[in-house]
Amino acid sequence: MKTVPLEIVTPERKVFAEDVQMVIARGGAGDLGILPGHTPLVTTLKISALRIKMQDGSERHVALSGGFMEVKPEHVTVLAETAEMPEDIDVNRAERARERAEQRLAQSGAENIDYRRAELALQRALTRLQVAKGNVRR
Ligand code: ATP
Repeated sequence: MKTVPLEIVTPERKVFAEDVQMVIARGGAGDLGILPGHTPLVTTLKISALRIKMQDGSERHVALSGGFMEVKPEHVTVLAETAEMPEDIDVNRAERARERAEQRLAQSGAENIDYRRAELALQRALTRLQVAKGNVRR
């Protein structure tokens, strides 16, 4: 079985480092499935759940709030702004973040609301909730 080392790092910490069978990422230009030996590329990543096919065939998910992925045939590196495995995620905190963002977005037309910022906060919260609850769509 072929595998490729995957490393996921944030400015704060190393979140994941293991040999894996496949990485499925939501790139700026669409979804990417990365197998060992993939041609080199660099892509931005959306706020999304990164899907990892582990050596034993199981799938793990990581909540990413955007970043970059560098693919080389023999190594994959994800540089994320933030990255959490399911067990790292505080569900109540993410629920509160989701509610705050939804309330801001509901105040349509109000001048002092930064909608883009609220939309991004909502996406981060929803991604964390999906990953924490094992509810990532394929
Ligand atoms: P909040 O409003 O709850 O802070 P946020 O989306 O603004 O959410 P970020 O700025 O993306 O938070 O993240 C700041 C730090 O907090 C990062 O280290 C991130 O991993 C961590 N973090 C954010 N939300 C959660 C959560 N629900 N569970 C665990 N860690 C979290």
